[in-house]
Amino acid sequence: MAKLYFHYATMNAGKTTMLLQASYNYRERGMETMLFIAGHYRKDDSAGVISSRIGLEAEAELFRDGDDLFARIDDHRRHGSLHCVFVDEAQFLEEEQVWQLARVADRLGIPVMCYGLRTDFQGKLFSGSKALLAIADELREVRTICRCGRKATMVVRLGPDGKVARQGAQVAIGKDVYVSLCRRHWEEEIGRVEPEDLIGFAGEVRGR
Ligand SMILES: [Zn+2]
Repeated sequence: MAKLYFHYATMNAGKTTMLLQASYNYRERGMETMLFIAGHYRKDDSAGVISSRIGLEAEAELFRDGDDLFARIDDHRRHGSLHCVFVDEAQFLEEEQVWQLARVADRLGIPVMCYGLRTDFQGKLFSGSKALLAIADELREVRTICRCGRKATMVVRLGPDGKVARQGAQVAIGKDVYVSLCRRHWEEEIGRVEPEDLIGFAGEVRGR
């Protein structure tokens, strides 16, 4: 039985590298893959490229709100073989699109591997992540660590001024930097709890 997978993590955990490696493994064995990446925050309409920090990249189709992903994947499959679908930035999927991907697994028998963030910088679930956490067959956490060595499950956003953003849009386009933290240090950086140690990350960044 084909499954719907959700690999989730914070920023900079290497999700995209994992996606590209997994797609490469399929293709190396002569199997076909179809890649998607969010088109929401891209300026040009050309085909997308998924690229990882370590230099791997692959062509991908863009998905946007309102797209019928089941129809696009079904159409692609009819014009050739297709063995696995990969979705990067899956946090931006709409709930209905997550259901469409579930149908790709259930009715077309093609596994779908989604990679994305679980929560935004305010600790709130993204729409796509919420639906994936609800209905995916397999949830896999991609681990990365906080500055303190604990598992990082949260992310803060540092604006151009180097300060931690405490409100604003869910996604900022520009020179913002995201830092992954454990929940304890996230609450301190976001200003909910007084810091108990003297290694504030935002402070370090400001001091550079
Ligand atoms: Zn920490």
